[in-house]
Amino acid sequence: MPLPADYHTHNALCRHATGQPTEYAARAAQLGLPEIGMSDHNPMPRDDFDDWRMRLDQLDEYVAGVEQARREHPTLAVKLALEVDYLPGGEDWIRDLAARHPWDYLIGSVHYVAEGWDLDNPNKVAEWKRREPFEVWTAYFERLTQAAGSGLFDIIGHADLAKKFCFYPNRDCTALYRGFLEAAKRRGAAIELNTAGLRKDCKEIYPSRYLLQMASQAGVLITFGSDAHAPEEVGLNFAEAVELARSTGYTHCCRFSRRRAEYVRF
Ligand SMILES: [Zn+2]
Ligand SMILES: [Zn+2]
Repeated sequence: MPLPADYHTHNALCRHATGQPTEYAARAAQLGLPEIGMSDHNPMPRDDFDDWRMRLDQLDEYVAGVEQARREHPTLAVKLALEVDYLPGGEDWIRDLAARHPWDYLIGSVHYVAEGWDLDNPNKVAEWKRREPFEVWTAYFERLTQAAGSGLFDIIGHADLAKKFCFYPNRDCTALYRGFLEAAKRRGAAIELNTAGLRKDCKEIYPSRYLLQMASQAGVLITFGSDAHAPEEVGLNFAEAVELARSTGYTHCCRFSRRRAEYVRF
């Protein structure tokens, strides 16, 4: 069974991943993937925003790295993309970035749920301990819903990232998921099956089977991503992700070229 494209990968420019885009492409070719998308963390207007993304003056170098991967792997489709942090009020910056290069797609992700708090940052787990999980999940899904409804993104990244460290809410989140999925459906944003969750404390693909079942029923489209931060992580656990997608009723996933979607059977 051929595996789907891996649409979520990083590289050394973001300062917490290893390897160059061409090495990620080499791994994708070795695995027989039809496509790989490079989607490193976006630069911010201020380079001191945090310490886990490329500097703004490295954006051209990033694009050149993706072009090099294309040249060195001519039989593989190599997509140019970014994983973009969604911050309310930051929409103009995202439009600015979107216009700078011929991106194939943009992944919109929520990592920051409050000023200075990226909820998946292992150095900031203390922030979780000061709050009720449901309060954080609510803030997270409100932002994710805004991201999906903004129309700025082709794909929404790791849709239940809040589960990473296993701070689970003791209340039902169905209404939060529904609001998010309605926004995604309305704006035609896909969600990804992101296998990195299997490598975290939660030991589960993002999003959960429950959320994915709701997404399938709502007619929300999907992509697949490893969220690789090292070349050997490309395509990791994709067989499991495909199985999950099929078992929730999916037969097709999206591919993107210059921000136009096509649907392919997987
Ligand atoms: Zn990262
Ligand atoms: Zn992310």
